[in-house]
Amino acid sequence: MTREKLSSNLDKVIWNVEQARMMVSEHHIVKIVAVGKYSTIEDIATLYSLGQRAFGENQVQQLSLRSDELEDLPIEWHMIGTLQKNKINQLIALHPSLFQSLDSLELAKALNDRLVTANKTMNCLLQINSANEDTKSGVNVDEAIEIYSTIQKTCPNIKLKGVMCIGANSEDIDKVKESFIITKEIYDQLEGASICSMGMSGDYELAIACGSNLVRIGSSIFDS
Ligand SMILES: *Cc1c(COP(=O)(O)O)cnc(C)c1O
Repeated sequence: MTREKLSSNLDKVIWNVEQARMMVSEHHIVKIVAVGKYSTIEDIATLYSLGQRAFGENQVQQLSLRSDELEDLPIEWHMIGTLQKNKINQLIALHPSLFQSLDSLELAKALNDRLVTANKTMNCLLQINSANEDTKSGVNVDEAIEIYSTIQKTCPNIKLKGVMCIGANSEDIDKVKESFIITKEIYDQLEGASICSMGMSGDYELAIACGSNLVRIGSSIFDS
């Protein structure tokens, strides 16, 4: 993609985020994480040069390749995809700024064990399956608060910072909105949580209106 196109795409997203967050409150700050899965290393480097600092990948392999290739840039890397157990050690070695898709108590225990061994900690979000879709990862809405607090109590090397959800995969805007509202309600009840990650290219303005303070944007930035 050309630098001009990336620049105008990014400007549009920033503008839309700005409008949406100001409707919530002047004090409501929203972080944009640019999701690179449809893009190239070159486009990520260009976006960085345009001022974007936080980037997300949904595969450990891709995160590894790209953070390695771009190691001279102080990029804030986020892991946003399902983590296979056999990739735990690789993710720990990459020490992402935030692992957003911690999606079960079982994974939390396995991750914590390896973190203890490595004498490291990791910032994580608990992923909630708030749309209640079989195809999506994440803990059930009914169990989310209990699992969050169990992880806080039993997994000292996991630093929980809040929650993440993927909006309902539906044309029905009310369904999408409901999944965001449910996630925000859970977020508001959590001890010490500061990040509510909701919203992608198709629904980030709605997510912000529902209280999201971190949006994960791929195609709106990287598609021409
Ligand atoms: C791909 C992806 C995104 C970005 O999706 P777009 O619709 O392209 O903005 C956000 N979050 C997760 C977990 C993803 O896998």
